[in-house]
Amino acid sequence: MARYIDPVCRRCRRIGEKLFLKGERCYTPRCAVDRRKRPPGEQIPRRRRSSEWAIQLREKQKARFAYGVLERQFRKYVDVAKDQPGVTGDLLLQLLETRLDNTVYRLCFADSRSQARQFVNHGHFMVNDKRVDIPSYQVKPGDTVAWNKVGDSTPEFIEAITDGIPKRPVPQWLSLDTENL
Ligand code: SF4
Repeated sequence: MARYIDPVCRRCRRIGEKLFLKGERCYTPRCAVDRRKRPPGEQIPRRRRSSEWAIQLREKQKARFAYGVLERQFRKYVDVAKDQPGVTGDLLLQLLETRLDNTVYRLCFADSRSQARQFVNHGHFMVNDKRVDIPSYQVKPGDTVAWNKVGDSTPEFIEAITDGIPKRPVPQWLSLDTENL
């Protein structure tokens, strides 16, 4: 499967905003957006007005980079959102937010969405007591997402990762059980 392998901080610099792709580092002065204000490759800052198309492209790329979704998959989400009754933008955001890797990240079980994706890929999570290793799996209202304690995740590993959670605010659509994880 295709995946992005270049430095992820370039993506933030290209967009000109922090996309929080690297976990802890994003909250420190080592963040590339804070250190270098210019887009990658530009020595002299260009002053020009962005067209409507350029603004829309930038917003689309921002969402795609933040959720770690490739172009073709993003297009599928847009098609699904368009087919449903309601506001397409809201529905698209719902589809992206309810991905299993994003849910794991939102529950503070991982420092970044890419780390959450790796944890899910490696079978560290269960949805409704069943092991799920597909990062794009859509969670539904009422689902329970939990660490796979009988699988590869050792108690020490889980303890190290979840020490001090919640490290960030958990969105209202999720309920985090810090005792039972
Ligand atoms: Fe983006 Fe985080 Fe890198 Fe800063 S440290 S540029 S927020 S990925």
